[in-house]
Amino acid sequence: MLQVGNGSRSGGGNSPLSGKRIFIPPMAYGSGRTFAAAFRALGLDADITPPSDHRTRELGARYTSGDECYPAKVTVGDFMKVLERPDADPASVAFFMPTAGGPCRFGQYAPYLRRILDQNGYPHTTVLSPSSEDSYGDFGEMAQSFVRSAWRALVSADILQKMLLKYRPYEVRKGTAEAVYEECLGDLCGAIERAPVNPPAQLKAIRESLVRCRDRFRAIPVRRERSTPLIGIVGEIFCRLNAFSNEDLVRRLEEYEAEAWISDITEWVWYTIAEQFRRLRLEGRQISLAALGAWIRKRVQKRDEHAMLEPFREDFVGYEEPTVEEVLAAARPYLPADGALGEMVLNVGKAICLARKGADGIIDISPFTCMNGIVCEAVYPRISRDLGGIPIRNFYFDGTQSDLDRDLGVYLELARTYQRRKQYRRVHPKIDERLAG
Ligand code: SF4
Repeated sequence: MLQVGNGSRSGGGNSPLSGKRIFIPPMAYGSGRTFAAAFRALGLDADITPPSDHRTRELGARYTSGDECYPAKVTVGDFMKVLERPDADPASVAFFMPTAGGPCRFGQYAPYLRRILDQNGYPHTTVLSPSSEDSYGDFGEMAQSFVRSAWRALVSADILQKMLLKYRPYEVRKGTAEAVYEECLGDLCGAIERAPVNPPAQLKAIRESLVRCRDRFRAIPVRRERSTPLIGIVGEIFCRLNAFSNEDLVRRLEEYEAEAWISDITEWVWYTIAEQFRRLRLEGRQISLAALGAWIRKRVQKRDEHAMLEPFREDFVGYEEPTVEEVLAAARPYLPADGALGEMVLNVGKAICLARKGADGIIDISPFTCMNGIVCEAVYPRISRDLGGIPIRNFYFDGTQSDLDRDLGVYLELARTYQRRKQYRRVHPKIDERLAG
């Protein structure tokens, strides 16, 4: 199933990870796959964990105590499923579990996973938790290449996801957009994996792949309906992007003839950079080596992002992602970024930005008991009032949903009612009309 990257690359052999198979929990399916390709580009062996299913929940429940948040259960369940396979060699398995500071439980996941593995007879299974604090030491001399490739993998996967959501609700033949998406992911992963790791050559290969993908999407026969409600999706990053965790909410929305605009992964990366600058300012270190490093990183990432998005300029007219500065400014009257931290600020700000882009409703997807969702839910009524009554609704998930379809049906009626009287109009890409003939 897994391919070790191009044998001509020597990087893998110098890494503490060489000889191991790295499993990545696919927060979002597409970015999980491209992220794995970024590992393979370095000559490492990597793939996403197998699809989540009922066994994921069984194992997640067995190996956790019940106090953890739902994303932890799903991730642990998927990892333990890998280890229970008859052919598994625990010593050659590495689980990718990033970490972050801040107020939420996510920062505890990696040490928690380590404990579960140790207590259940897997002390030799690696937990790969790269951190900027040790300059990504797990990657050895490949650290710099990895960080750049990983960023490109995330941005390009977000672009494909955006195209999928823009086409799937309108496809004439059911399943076409999904098939194109899969084909594009294969193309993109191949480009990431096979391109030389040298930055300009890699960027060129990714861009060329993205252009091929764009043209495949543009060729999908669609019947666009301007009255289709556009629903902005915000919420906790794992739960909103992981279709298994949110019971495939986006696809269900589409079955109710709505279109979704989901907050992507890169939004979080931009937020962490903005947060780093805020902290440096607080500490009076605006002029320091750390600030210079952050500034360079931001510039390089911006330039890469711009290069990858450029071929989609016409496709994304009206779908432009607000910058993190715009999101934080929108959130400020409700949750100022210097008084509240993390996803709650992003969700509130993004909900407002999407409403101003002409969305007909906002859905916040959160794991049951997650503080972010609870804080946002307290703020949303005021935001809805200030924006002319846009329906904003929280959907909480813990794997026991029962009436999601009914709730979505009711919610979409509210969105359609708001659509008829909303003050913010949508801008539709002209290219969509041209392609429709
Ligand atoms: S945001 Fe909420 S659900 Fe996600 S890791 Fe943090 S506490 Fe858990």
